[in-house]
Amino acid sequence: MTWRVTVDTGLCISSGMCLGIAPGRFHFDESQHSTPVSTPTEPDEQIRDAAASCPVEAILLTDADTGTLVPLNA
Ligand code: SF4
Repeated sequence: MTWRVTVDTGLCISSGMCLGIAPGRFHFDESQHSTPVSTPTEPDEQIRDAAASCPVEAILLTDADTGTLVPLNA
């Protein structure tokens, strides 16, 4: 499986939590909203942890092939 990582920049409040939880996987764009460094990507538990920890649930993980949501608590 390959994951597609999406951040809803309309929801992101720039807390920086995902950058701290998954170093190197997210960075801030010019508007200080988080964006994934690489997507699609191999399944990555730090990315999953970041998505599960986002205070506004702005990070969406889907199966890049099927579009199915990746569970955040697996
Ligand atoms: S944890 Fe969520 S709100 Fe915080 S920077 Fe990342 S995407 Fe934005």
